[in-house]
Amino acid sequence: MWWDSMKSFAASTALLKRKLGAAVVRTDADSLHAAAFDSSKILFAPVAVIQPAKEADIGVVLELANKHGVPVTTRGRGTTLTGAAAPLRGGWVLDMLGLNTIAIDEDAGMAHVQAGAKVGDIQRAAEAKGWFYPPDPSSKEYCTIGGNIACNAGGMHGGKYGVTRDFIVALRGFLPTGEYVEWGTATKKFSAGFNMRDLRIGSEGMLGVVTGAVLKLIPQPAERWTLLTSFPDETKAL
Ligand SMILES: Cc1cc2nc3c(=O)[nH]c(=O)nc-3n(C[C@H](O)[C@H](O)[C@H](O)COP(=O)(O)OP(=O)(O)OC[C@H]3O[C@@H](n4cnc5c(N)ncnc54)[C@H](O)[C@@H]3O)c2cc1C
Repeated sequence: MWWDSMKSFAASTALLKRKLGAAVVRTDADSLHAAAFDSSKILFAPVAVIQPAKEADIGVVLELANKHGVPVTTRGRGTTLTGAAAPLRGGWVLDMLGLNTIAIDEDAGMAHVQAGAKVGDIQRAAEAKGWFYPPDPSSKEYCTIGGNIACNAGGMHGGKYGVTRDFIVALRGFLPTGEYVEWGTATKKFSAGFNMRDLRIGSEGMLGVVTGAVLKLIPQPAERWTLLTSFPDETKAL
């Protein structure tokens, strides 16, 4: 049975290669190995790694995957420690790193980013224009904003400013069945209708693929202070 599904995945992969091209659908040993595990180091072999050239490619991938029953695992930078980015059921890994544009809207105080943009790069782009994007997982020099949205990541700034969820204004992407969707709007006030945007945040890739987001920025703090102190025990510290 396992061999039958591997054979059928291979046939679907050949079809996908014809649709999107060999530069997008990678089956070489190095690409397959690099996408086989995340920071949990649990290893499962995919049949192909898809590096979309444009967001619309993802709709094509998901439609075909549904038609042929191929499992798809979305991957940012693979820094999750949970195994969620490892292709547990084989199939296709959707590698988002190539979709990484960042545009800062200085007037609105928002960042328009693609899912594969590195979080550290988003912070630097915002700071260059006088704005601040606070969520700061320790992995920010590696991880993607898509991964942060999927895991609702947060870091040391979380206590004061909040986590990724608190800075998402709008999302776009594809449902697992391949339909394109947009949730939220790039406005400061968003109150009408169901809040499908927040359902996606923290869903760890299970509700489809995020391809882009609009992030809220805040003015840069006038000063930054670091305080180092020590206490004899936890109760006194609290
Ligand atoms: C050294 C180190 C330090 C860390 N520090 C922190 C920390 O301080 N705070 C914290 O919260 N986490 C931390 N993490 C965990 C990890 O970095 C975060 O969970 C991060 O958000 C994962 O981003 P990624 O791009 O690597 O995503 P991946 O690991 O590739 O994927 C994580 C999950 O997101 C899904 N996913 C990825 N991209 C998309 C997308 N575009 N659409 C839909 N689903 C998607 C994947 O399918 C998977 O389920 C740390 C990890 C390491 C190794």
